[in-house]
Amino acid sequence: MDFTISEKMKTILGMIDEFVDKELIPLEPEFLTKPARSLLPVFEEKRRMVKQMELWAPNHPKEYGGMELNLMEHALVSESLGRSPLGHFIFGCQAPDAGNIEILDQFGSDEQKEKYLRPLVDGKIRSCFSMTEVELPGSNPVMMDTTAVKDGDDYVINGQKWYTSSADGSEFAIVMVVTNPEAGPYLQASMIIVPTDTPGFNLVRNIPVMGHAGEDYFSHAEILYQNCRVPQKNLLGPEGHGFVIAQERLGPGRIHHCMRWIGICNRAFDLMVARAGDRIIAPNRKLATKQIIQSWIGECAADIQAARLMVLHAAWRIETVGKKEARKEISMIKFVVANVMQKVIDCALQVHGGLGMTDDTIIAFYYRHERAARIYDGADEVHKISVAKRILKEYEGKKIR
Ligand SMILES: Cc1cc2nc3c(=O)[nH]c(=O)nc-3n(C[C@H](O)[C@H](O)[C@H](O)COP(=O)(O)OP(=O)(O)OC[C@H]3O[C@@H](n4cnc5c(N)ncnc54)[C@H](O)[C@@H]3O)c2cc1C
Repeated sequence: MDFTISEKMKTILGMIDEFVDKELIPLEPEFLTKPARSLLPVFEEKRRMVKQMELWAPNHPKEYGGMELNLMEHALVSESLGRSPLGHFIFGCQAPDAGNIEILDQFGSDEQKEKYLRPLVDGKIRSCFSMTEVELPGSNPVMMDTTAVKDGDDYVINGQKWYTSSADGSEFAIVMVVTNPEAGPYLQASMIIVPTDTPGFNLVRNIPVMGHAGEDYFSHAEILYQNCRVPQKNLLGPEGHGFVIAQERLGPGRIHHCMRWIGICNRAFDLMVARAGDRIIAPNRKLATKQIIQSWIGECAADIQAARLMVLHAAWRIETVGKKEARKEISMIKFVVANVMQKVIDCALQVHGGLGMTDDTIIAFYYRHERAARIYDGADEVHKISVAKRILKEYEGKKIR
């Protein structure tokens, strides 16, 4: 693998790092203490600056106004942006819109692309992805109760979803529904675009997550679909291909997520080392002189480096052998990086003592919100089992001495 960063990417990353340091990190104290909606005008202003710098939507198609960076390039961008919880949102490459943009680009009709994809890439509207149900296991999504039944030219949708991230303030949801109950388990579901102002799209609540319900982009909603009627032309891709399309959201999206987590690790690590170097714990003694703290610094540095290399390797595998062949690596990075991130954030919090528990640094925010990384996008255990099954298969019939 070649780790050389091109001159073009060095310039882009330098500009992004500077922007994150000068424009976004100073906004965080307000972000941590004020309702998100009250900050939308400030966010809009920052987004305008990003567009002026021609760094908007780094991973999205040029045709729709993005930079169309390749997988490796955007991986590095995602790492830089991960240093602030505002990074991806301000640069127009935030989840779940990023995944929705990918599948609209790949599977959307011309009409869907003009109506939904173009304004989405432009940042004029937001969207959400509504798959997980309250009563059934998200880890086994073929078990799904939400249905869409054809009636005239429409689909009528009924069901209860939750953890529809960022539904509050979204223009539309891409909803996973059972359309073909008689088909095989992986061909029963479809994705349908549902404008959120459709009667029967009921946002019940923003779910409090670790004590914070949040609002607007920074929230996770419970949605009740009650006789929610949309035209059949809102079907995304072929009927019954919901899981096939869902697979498309995975590979590259996982690289972006994991590199965002590495960015979070870098930020927490910086804060940890700086605090250890500053904090006096005895006359003429800094916290950094204690070997146990040095041990955490050494371990975290090595863990971050190892995790980062794993992600870059997985990205390289996707680019060289394709998503299908790289499935083992794509699963491995999910649980490795999520756990490294949790450890690094935890060490950073511990080094900050009581301060770490407050919202006077960004660490407690990361501690609350990033615990979910071990659950969403496939729980750790599911990925470990999937990796193990692949490995066991590779060993089948081999004589090992
Ligand atoms: C912050 C956050 C944001 C999210 N955003 C979205 C979103 O935008 N859209 C959306 O549709 N969903 C979203 N989700 C939902 C997420 O995808 C699900 O929570 C996830 O798939 C797990 O499903 P579940 O919660 O039903 O847990 P379950 O499936 O009930 O699993 C519970 C636990 O059981 C264990 N487990 C599960 N399966 C196995 C197995 N085969 N072997 C061993 N152990 C197992 C795991 O430890 C797992 O954590 C989000 C979740 C969170 C926390």
